[in-house]
Amino acid sequence: MTAVLELREVTKSYPGTPPVASLRGISLDVVRGELVAVVGPSGSGKSTLLHLAAGLDRPSSGSVRIAGEAIEGLSDRRLSALRAYRLGVVFQQFHLLEHLSALENVATGLLYRGVPAPRRRAAAADALERVGLGHRLRHRAGVLSGGERQRVAIARALVGDPAVLLADEPTGNLDSATGREIITLLHRLNDEGTTVLVITHDAAIAAAMRRRIELLDGRIRHDSGVTP
Ligand code: ADP
Ligand code: MG
Repeated sequence: MTAVLELREVTKSYPGTPPVASLRGISLDVVRGELVAVVGPSGSGKSTLLHLAAGLDRPSSGSVRIAGEAIEGLSDRRLSALRAYRLGVVFQQFHLLEHLSALENVATGLLYRGVPAPRRRAAAADALERVGLGHRLRHRAGVLSGGERQRVAIARALVGDPAVLLADEPTGNLDSATGREIITLLHRLNDEGTTVLVITHDAAIAAAMRRRIELLDGRIRHDSGVTP
């Protein structure tokens, strides 16, 4: 089994008086093919965990390996490259460029790699097809519905064929029916081979995931275990 994420005794504290201990010793592996939900109340450390798993931040102590690479030895530039080549990340607020088309937004997911523009656009069209937006390629992000925007963000995360797709509360800005559609999409992408880790405080969403990791006060309270 190939681990796409490996965290060992990871802690994260934010400076302050007193400092805030956000993660207090997290160890977990996510292997290829898994669909994992991370759940826990607000403030339990879910977003901190996602930021570390996404290489957007570094731990205070402990080690993080992303797609087999230990990030502690990497310069910021190498870490950015690892992110660009191996990870796809989706946030609650979509983070799209509103004035660009769906296609252009997704194509930006390949900018870092220096892929020529025509190939970027072709790959972006494929990714948008996969998320059910083949009919919206030319629409500006700004005119799309919330559910469609989140699909564009998911397509942008997928376009580079990441080792793992990470999502932080991807349904947090959506009504419950639209949220369920996004979760159904994540299940389908997982069935098609994408490894997915999704953060949610919605117990019903978590219950439908093959593996659940429960956080409380920066620690793992329960992990239902590796389920490839
Ligand atoms: P969750 O996503 O589960 O709501 P977070 O990971 O966002 O939890 O936060 C966990 C704890 O760390 C909270 O107490 C939060 O206030 C604190 N925290 C998170 N980010 C920062 C930051 N950049 N600076 C200071 N404290 C932070
Ligand atoms: Mg959060």
